[in-house]
Amino acid sequence: MAPEPIDLHHLGRERIIASYLLDTDDGPAIFDCGPSTTIEALNRGLADRGLALTDVRHLLLSHIHLDHAGAAGVLVREHPGLQVHVSPIGAPHLVDPSRLEKSARRLYGDSFDSLWGELAPVPEENVHVVEESVLGLDCFPTPGHASHHVCFLDPDGTLYAGDACGVRVLPGRFVMPPTPPPEVDVEAWEESLDEIERRASTSSTGPSRSRAARPRRSSSSTRTRSSRTRVRTRRPTTSRCRSGSRTAASSAGPRSGRRACQPTPSTSRSGA
Ligand SMILES: [Zn+2]
Repeated sequence: MAPEPIDLHHLGRERIIASYLLDTDDGPAIFDCGPSTTIEALNRGLADRGLALTDVRHLLLSHIHLDHAGAAGVLVREHPGLQVHVSPIGAPHLVDPSRLEKSARRLYGDSFDSLWGELAPVPEENVHVVEESVLGLDCFPTPGHASHHVCFLDPDGTLYAGDACGVRVLPGRFVMPPTPPPEVDVEAWEESLDEIERRASTSSTGPSRSRAARPRRSSSSTRTRSSRTRVRTRRPTTSRCRSGSRTAASSAGPRSGRRACQPTPSTSRSGA
């Protein structure tokens, strides 16, 4: 049975940011840990599932935007045995987040600390660059939302999608693609969606096991349809289909017009 999300209650609000707790070939793992400001909620969610942070062996990251990965360094400081899996482009920014923080502080201004909290470095020995298979899950590049974005596909048919399949909060049906400028690459994103569809069509999981909403390529917009691949994004929803419909920024309080995601310094075409 696929896991339910851990609602991280970002800024005290439900259904903004979530993590997932997975069983892997090497014990419990968290998918996308959220920012440092929600560590308390993450620990509560783990405790509700009978675990402490120190029981978690791995952290899988879809990408390094702060709403997905901001807490990684603090978590490793609290639990030095935690192994962090991230794309090759994202890895250096976990080890030295200074450029990422500088870029994000320009974007979020005075709201940075209340939104995201501390951005601590992850020791290099804890950082593992992902390959095609990670802890029994297929891992593959899904650029578009961010050039360094990857997805993880569980053999049970669950796709841990991060931001690659848009944002949807059930019971709403609207799927919004989070498109942080200047890094968003629509052509690359469409190719990523093609790849997700290809993998879904070859999934060994029968269609009766899941009814997921996921974006599919269309001429001018992103739509949803049933699929045999369950989609897990960062935002908690109320059924087995997981896809958010709001950016964190759209309901994140002060400066709510700002996006939850920010460009990755080394990959931003503007150099930001
Ligand atoms: Zn993002």
